[in-house]
Amino acid sequence: LEEQNRFRNEHGIKAVGRHVPAALHEFSDLALRYNVSQELISTVKECGYNEPTPVQRQALPCMLEDRQIFACAPTGSGKTAAFLVPILHMLGAPQGGPRALILCPTRELAHQIYREALRLSASTQLRCSVIRNLKESKVKEREATFRKSDIVISTPNRLCYLLNQDSVSVSLDKVRWLIIDEADKLFEGSSEQSSDFRQQMDQILEACGGKQKRIAMFSATHTPSVAKWCRHHMRGLINVTVGQRNA
Ligand code: ADP
Ligand code: MG
Repeated sequence: LEEQNRFRNEHGIKAVGRHVPAALHEFSDLALRYNVSQELISTVKECGYNEPTPVQRQALPCMLEDRQIFACAPTGSGKTAAFLVPILHMLGAPQGGPRALILCPTRELAHQIYREALRLSASTQLRCSVIRNLKESKVKEREATFRKSDIVISTPNRLCYLLNQDSVSVSLDKVRWLIIDEADKLFEGSSEQSSDFRQQMDQILEACGGKQKRIAMFSATHTPSVAKWCRHHMRGLINVTVGQRNA
């Protein structure tokens, strides 16, 4: 245990919660520890990711052990792969009908996440999609894409817009992982936006009905409102912080 704390300290990782899984030394350890496929590990390395970043060292084991996390790490520290790699492993074979839902504040960000998901999912058959512009004429197409996707990336706005259409039925029943990326930005918009966001979150959580659902929250800064939301909505929460709390 002391050994583990020393390793975390060396990498600037703080992890608070019950029975926190040991941090990851190397991506290749994922094979033995979690039965992650060699193909997925090779893809990660082919992306040029030779060593896990600090947030990846702690977030991967947590998520692979089905633990809910609130992870704060600076911009550019590899948070995207920190949630994509566990999702790609845990979803296994494609089924269609989203089992992972990734929410982020802007469509530009949604596309960045999508591009990383395409790269990292190269060895899998899993399908990812972004909910993009929702013109009336396109809603049926979106519904079809949604139904075929294993991983859906969206802003809360667009997802709720789609959920609220009478003409389509999209289900979030099968969602196993709900990822909230750049949570600080989503929660801390102008107060009007952020109250909209909270309502949208209520609707989305309600729609992700499954008991099996887990939430993972990622953010560049530690903000009290996000921390409070996590305490209320996430059982067995592990708080992971890399570097300074408010860097
Ligand atoms: P964040 O979401 O924390 O701001 P990103 O996920 O966008 O950071 O990653 C920032 C950059 O670091 C990207 O170009 C990504 O490809 C790269 N990256 C991610 N993980 C690693 C890693 N383990 N080793 C090297 N580069 C990485
Ligand atoms: Mg990011």
